[in-house]
Amino acid sequence: MIRNNDYPIIRPSDAVAWSECIRRVWLDNKGELDHEQTEDAFDQLVKDRGLKHEQQVLKLLHEEYDIQEATSVEHTQLLIAQETEVIYQAQLKNDDEGFIGYPDFLIRNKSGEYQPADAKLSLSEKKKSIQIQLGFYRKQLGVELPAIVFLGDGSKAEIGAEANKITEKFINEMRLLLADKQEPSVRYSHSKCSTCPYHDYCKPKFEAKEELSLIYGIQGRAAEGLEKIGIKSITELANINYENLPDVPYLKGSLKKKRAVFQAQAYLDGSIHKIAPINLPKGTWIHFDIEDYALTMDGNKHVYLWGFLVSSSSGNEFEYVWTDKEDEDKRGWIAFLKMIEKYRSIYNDLVLAHFSQHERSTIRLYAERYDMLENETVAYLLGQDSPLFDMQKPVLESLVLPIQSYGLKDICKHPELVNFQWQDADSNGAWSIVKYDHFLNEKDVVRREILKKEILMYNKDDVKATLRLEEWLRSDELNKN
Ligand code: SF4
Repeated sequence: MIRNNDYPIIRPSDAVAWSECIRRVWLDNKGELDHEQTEDAFDQLVKDRGLKHEQQVLKLLHEEYDIQEATSVEHTQLLIAQETEVIYQAQLKNDDEGFIGYPDFLIRNKSGEYQPADAKLSLSEKKKSIQIQLGFYRKQLGVELPAIVFLGDGSKAEIGAEANKITEKFINEMRLLLADKQEPSVRYSHSKCSTCPYHDYCKPKFEAKEELSLIYGIQGRAAEGLEKIGIKSITELANINYENLPDVPYLKGSLKKKRAVFQAQAYLDGSIHKIAPINLPKGTWIHFDIEDYALTMDGNKHVYLWGFLVSSSSGNEFEYVWTDKEDEDKRGWIAFLKMIEKYRSIYNDLVLAHFSQHERSTIRLYAERYDMLENETVAYLLGQDSPLFDMQKPVLESLVLPIQSYGLKDICKHPELVNFQWQDADSNGAWSIVKYDHFLNEKDVVRREILKKEILMYNKDDVKATLRLEEWLRSDELNKN
């Protein structure tokens, strides 16, 4: 069928890529790049879990409604005309507008109109891409009724007219974007680009032009501000005296500017800059790291491993609290608190070193989950004289390093920095979630034990890494004069 206008095809599924990066959605649609969509084990696990959730919703709806599965756009129209109660895997097409959408369900309201509905693993319907997708289906159907989202924790939410604005923005911008033959110009974003399938295509181009946003701490608005005052490349930034650099958006104040210029120098020559003395608390240090699993049945993350590295004159002892399944969540938490009390009773100068805010915020989350904010051990952990010490803090406060992201692995794996290597080079947070998921589903006792050992080895490496980071921060190399 010929459309009445030249609108490009827009799919609500594009909302995810569009929310991340407009170049990504442009490349997805133009499809001229010969890149391989690599899906790692974690992506596959999330996908499988999403399908499982959809099947659970389908089963629930079956208990209440007559459900028919649509096989095409025409079949969907036929099922609508037949007033089918629930249409599963509906296919909607609006030729004039160039819209194609696939809501998981169309549910017939008592008014006779259909409400679009999707099963989402997310715990909130507020996510931009969810608002757009469901808003898009409402527009396709031309209904005022709210769309329904079956969330990952089993709850149900509605999306109504409040999503119209962002949906229209998405449609209008997508039309302009897809009408353009030129690839859109964007900034580098390490968090987005490092996991994007077009990374190997885009990164060399950013590097070739010495794009300023390649520098840690320089985001789009700051890069734009620098360009406006004539600093257009990393070399130009590296060569400027930071004291002469005027304020630009998101790059104000002497310290930020100093960091930016040093970061540009570090990018170019691999140099390490110490910008303040390194302050580490005195006491007996125990290194601490947790592993959690968010793909639980109720959507509440489950900490399955609380790991500690205790150093003594006889060596480093790895101690931990482990739980075999999410039903043991509270038992694990209580055992963790007992572990803390044990260390507290032995060391009155305890320092519980971890990396980033994740451990502290998880302890707070658990204290709230089990209504234990008043608990004595919790008060000790979260109070004014807390033994918790975030090791990312001295790094960020005192050093500028030749890296693009200040994560534990970025700092520790770098051969010119800490140079600590994990025994399994491919292991990371997502890897451990996949392993724990396999552990949960594995029936064979021996294989389960192997999986547990692998996860324990990974966690032990994490706490060893923070110990090596501590040693590096105390080293003469970083503390001379
Ligand atoms: S690598 Fe970065 S810039 Fe390129 S498409 Fe992906 S997110 Fe966008």
